[in-house]
Amino acid sequence: MTTPPHRSTALSVVVPVFDEEEVLPLFVARLRPVLDGLGQERDYEVLVVDDGSTDATPVLLQRELRSWPQLRVVRLRANAGHQAAISAGLARAGGELVVTIDADLQDPPELIADMVDVARRESLDVVYATRSDRSSDTRFKRVTAHGYYDTMRRLGADHGPTHAGDFRLMSRATVEAVNALPEHHRVLRLVVPSLGFPSAVLSYRRDERAAGRSKYPFTKMLRLAVDSITGASLAPLRLATWLGFLGALVALGLLVYALVGFAVGLTVPGWTSTFMVVTAVGGVQLLCLGIMGEYVGRTYTMQLDRPTYHVAHDSGEPEAR
Ligand code: UDP
Ligand code: MG
Repeated sequence: MTTPPHRSTALSVVVPVFDEEEVLPLFVARLRPVLDGLGQERDYEVLVVDDGSTDATPVLLQRELRSWPQLRVVRLRANAGHQAAISAGLARAGGELVVTIDADLQDPPELIADMVDVARRESLDVVYATRSDRSSDTRFKRVTAHGYYDTMRRLGADHGPTHAGDFRLMSRATVEAVNALPEHHRVLRLVVPSLGFPSAVLSYRRDERAAGRSKYPFTKMLRLAVDSITGASLAPLRLATWLGFLGALVALGLLVYALVGFAVGLTVPGWTSTFMVVTAVGGVQLLCLGIMGEYVGRTYTMQLDRPTYHVAHDSGEPEAR
């Protein structure tokens, strides 16, 4: 799945895009001057991973390719999701430094210059960009984001700086360490801090999406949350064990109650308690099965070893030129 980078550059910028026809021209207009102005003889590449867009995104990208020599477009056959799209970009990025950034201009491209500066000056492997202010996010997004980071912290998962999403700079060594991981549904904002490489944090104001709508519906957010939890911790499995213990204790109490009831001849009334026990036990059992199922599913997909994305076309491959 991993194609080794075929040319090295000073900086790669990896951009996952999915149905971003509205925002793409604005993004290019803001990103290009930043990169052209970095003062390294334009020795950079921009790796846009088109995550199976069905709107005019591929057409717009083809047009950009003609006038922007540093642009490389990798098109995935089908929508593989944000994290898989970034992974596809990281597997192909040849930069000594690699920045990942969203296309919707919520992450300001101008910060890339500062990230590169800090990384070079302090010889760091990772520079996280954290959102100092989320007031431009919807209330729902803010509440769910808080819940997410709080849960991850409680589970003991090192998620790096809070509210650092996928806007970050990584050194070549970091990217290679990430690419070498066999994990399939990796959540990069957890994987990168877990490496423990020297890092710094820059904070920025998160802007509103410049155009278009969020490509992260609730189902995708939920998937990311489940992947994050199962990828970072076995705590839910332990919770299942404790629920089992608790259930056994309650059962023991009820057994004594039933035996005493039988001995004193109080056995007929009890529809409510029977009903409650059956539904509660059933519910807890299903919950525990579901928790185990998530881990079994992860093991299963690892066993199948199917790629998480398929590349349809890569403008950087020699035969595609
Ligand atoms: N994205 C992607 N594949 C997806 C969903 C999103 O490549 O299945 C891209 C999207 O085009 C954007 C980035 O991932 O560049 C973040 O998505 P979005 O801004 O919609 O997420 P939000 O900021 O609402 O969480
Ligand atoms: Mg966004």
